Amino acid sequence: MKTIFIVSVHGDEQAPLKVIKEHFKDRLKYLVAHPEAFKKNVRYLTTDLNRSFPGRVDGSKEERIVVKLMKKLNNYERVIDLHTATCDTLPFAILTKVTKDHLKLVSLLGLRRVVCMEKNIASGKALIDHIPIAISVECGNERSPATPSNIKKMIDDYLNNKSISLKRIEYYTVFEFLTKKTEKERLVKKIQPFKLVKKGEIVSRNNNELHTAKFNFYPILPREKNYKDILCLMAKKVCLKEFKEISSSRETLL
Ligand SMILES: [Zn+2]
Repeated sequence: MKTIFIVSVHGDEQAPLKVIKEHFKDRLKYLVAHPEAFKKNVRYLTTDLNRSFPGRVDGSKEERIVVKLMKKLNNYERVIDLHTATCDTLPFAILTKVTKDHLKLVSLLGLRRVVCMEKNIASGKALIDHIPIAISVECGNERSPATPSNIKKMIDDYLNNKSISLKRIEYYTVFEFLTKKTEKERLVKKIQPFKLVKKGEIVSRNNNELHTAKFNFYPILPREKNYKDILCLMAKKVCLKEFKEISSSRETLL
């Protein structure tokens, strides 16, 4: 199937392009989504590109970029959209729809974790919402030395058609944001990505004021700087069967 890798939907996420240029330049199709933001090393210029789909010819800078991008992406059957974070995280796939084709992509990339955004969480304006078979991959911290090698391994696995069993993948669904009540509120140290937090545990502090978890959850992207007013995403872990059911009911709603 014809595949394209998308890099720098956010201009300051540059590690994936560096890896592609260094190791895969002639072995795959890729596209820098936002070259101007990339050059300036900023997330976006006027509006977040990944909140600007399906685009508008008379819209913002990014909405106009999206119109052109959509035309190009129509020529491909699979779209893999690579992102990096400002916080530490293990690599994971992000989906807003789940079909056999989406899961196949996750398994071909050798990703061990997949996160589905539930309907009330997803903006509906991201790239993956508007392309039939597209997934986003959060490759890790932009500044972490482990990130380039994780990206290289993932693309190598994909190009060599190595897939992992769906049984080896962990499935999560994001059901809520953990929001800051005050500007200075911070997560406590033991809150780590994909590490279960139990109801009643301390999750955050603001000076001497401590906040506890109201229910069990798995933190996703804790301490991500680009999520203003948000401490982390809150997910629950589900089995593959449940994951498919959540998604199929979602799909009919879309
Ligand atoms: Zn991004």
